[in-house]
Amino acid sequence: MPRKVRDEMDDRNFHVNEGDVMTEEARRKAASENLARRRQELRKQKKRRRVATRLILPGLILALILMFVIVRTLRSNHTERNEKTAEAVEKSKTEGEIIIGLKGSQVQLVLKGDPYIENGAFAIDTENGAIDQDEIKIKGKVDTETPGDYEVKYIVRDGWSKITATRTVRVLSKKEFGDKAKDVPVLMYHWVYTKKKVPKELDANWILKKDLDKQMAYLEENEFYYPGWKELRAWVDGEISIPAKCVVVTFDDGKKEFLKYGIPVLEKHHVPATSFMICWEDNDALRKLKKYASPYVDFESHTYAMHQKTTNNTGYKGVAPEMKPEEISADLAKAREVVGTNDAFAYPYGELTDDLVDAVRNQGFQCAVTTEYDRVRQGADPMKLPRVRVIGDGSFESWKASVY
Ligand SMILES: [Zn+2]
Repeated sequence: MPRKVRDEMDDRNFHVNEGDVMTEEARRKAASENLARRRQELRKQKKRRRVATRLILPGLILALILMFVIVRTLRSNHTERNEKTAEAVEKSKTEGEIIIGLKGSQVQLVLKGDPYIENGAFAIDTENGAIDQDEIKIKGKVDTETPGDYEVKYIVRDGWSKITATRTVRVLSKKEFGDKAKDVPVLMYHWVYTKKKVPKELDANWILKKDLDKQMAYLEENEFYYPGWKELRAWVDGEISIPAKCVVVTFDDGKKEFLKYGIPVLEKHHVPATSFMICWEDNDALRKLKKYASPYVDFESHTYAMHQKTTNNTGYKGVAPEMKPEEISADLAKAREVVGTNDAFAYPYGELTDDLVDAVRNQGFQCAVTTEYDRVRQGADPMKLPRVRVIGDGSFESWKASVY
């Protein structure tokens, strides 16, 4: 090999060798740099993964909350729509602690040209008891000269919110109004029982829930009209007409067995009724009012503490005939505080004396009912209205005859 070539080769070799040495170092450097970069990359990846896992859970929770909110909104929209179509009285029941109901029929029927009688409403605060009827605001105008539907609103304020019930007043022509009532049955019930819980001393004052249900279903199916007490009074006084197919439903005493088993039946069939409540503590009246408040039950007075049997030989069952007029008035005023109204009154044991009748009249009651068996007729004394006693174990046919 010529030297030059060898030199050159050596040179190359040398260079190659030198180059090899440098590359080794560079490689090592590069490798360590690479390692550092990879480590950094790994750290970044790890960090990203950590951030990701930290985000997944809250993200999931957020998604769940969102889904929940969407479902809730959809559902509440649905409920709102349902509520709007439901009757006003039922709406008022869902709105909170104040239950407001209309006295008399939800749709009040007025013969063209008759005066409009304002039946009013009642309201119960389920925490505090009855709200006095004078505190219920009434809005709406009825032109009884022009047939058609009118709206009357009953408003109770509860702090910032308003609870409202709405009545439709339907003014009808003579032809539309049809037959007028010649007499009005005021049905008198007492207590309701179920087959599972038969009372020990079962008498005619007790009615089986199933039988009451059949009767109330009949009233609903046959579209009976339920005049309010003020309407009944105006009719008795000859001021207005009432449709022939009508009935007033009352339950005496406010016993738990009516409240618990009877009220659901009234609600089911949309029958407004009056519960004549014995208002004193011994009957636990305030608690019962709050617990069983219903837009279908108007609690009226059956006295505060006069519904007690006398121990004296007076010829009367109860203590009322022994009481002085001022004692009677004080008792009636106390009862009014409990029920918040004085539209109707039921005499304890159906017993009445002149003093008692005078006191009831002076307290401003529209109607007072006895236990005398009859239908109410025009021209009757509004402070002594008879009733139709419903015999608990009577036949359905005989009951039907009593309402027609
Ligand atoms: Zn009674």
